[in-house]
Amino acid sequence: MKFGTPVQLAAGLMVMWGDRSSCAFSLKHNFDNFWLSSEQKLAAYNLNSLWYLKQEHTAEGKVLTYPVASGVHLLPDEGDYLITNVPTTGIGIITADCLPIVFFDSVRRVVAVVHAGWKGSVQGIAPIVLRQMQQRFGTELKNIQIWFGPHANPCCYEVTPEFRTHLLSSIANQVILPRDGRLFFDTARYNELLLIAAGVHAQQIDRQYSFCTMCSLRFHSRRNDGALYIGQSSIAWLQ
Ligand SMILES: [Zn+2]
Repeated sequence: MKFGTPVQLAAGLMVMWGDRSSCAFSLKHNFDNFWLSSEQKLAAYNLNSLWYLKQEHTAEGKVLTYPVASGVHLLPDEGDYLITNVPTTGIGIITADCLPIVFFDSVRRVVAVVHAGWKGSVQGIAPIVLRQMQQRFGTELKNIQIWFGPHANPCCYEVTPEFRTHLLSSIANQVILPRDGRLFFDTARYNELLLIAAGVHAQQIDRQYSFCTMCSLRFHSRRNDGALYIGQSSIAWLQ
């Protein structure tokens, strides 16, 4: 299982799932390292450009189509997903316990990255990205592949009893897991259930990279690292 270096997830699709080794920067706390690290990634991965949005736990995002400017871009636009059909255009997200999701349409050649914390998840960011791909690029559900990346798993992600009020009541019982008198949230399962309701089959979702960022010290973790946490960037691109 490779983290911190690019892996080919499908023919024509590259993804670098971030860990502590692959980035030592924070969008909020260290811009110098952010630019240096991003310029290095651009060269190392042979990308024409690399894009990030100002992540704010929204269900908004941006679609990048031709023409795409070269270089590293940290856009001032608030948003938590990026979609592109332009090869060698890196689209990145920063996470530290939130769920990174990669979508790929192997026929229309479209890739998306999503930052899905609980707030984005309950706003339905995953099915929104699916709809964007369908409407903007003609993506058919049967051609979609989806990967969940490293995030706080329900072994560690404790929530309060009130947390349930944010969730769709019809599926809350499947994603709030009681254990030893405490409650834990399964972010990936919540997104999976929304995607299945939108028409995706469970077999189209690959969880092999969805390690727990709180159990393993190899990942940045907002809950473990405290207020000065930094994030790992995960980047996807079409070859
Ligand atoms: Zn854990």
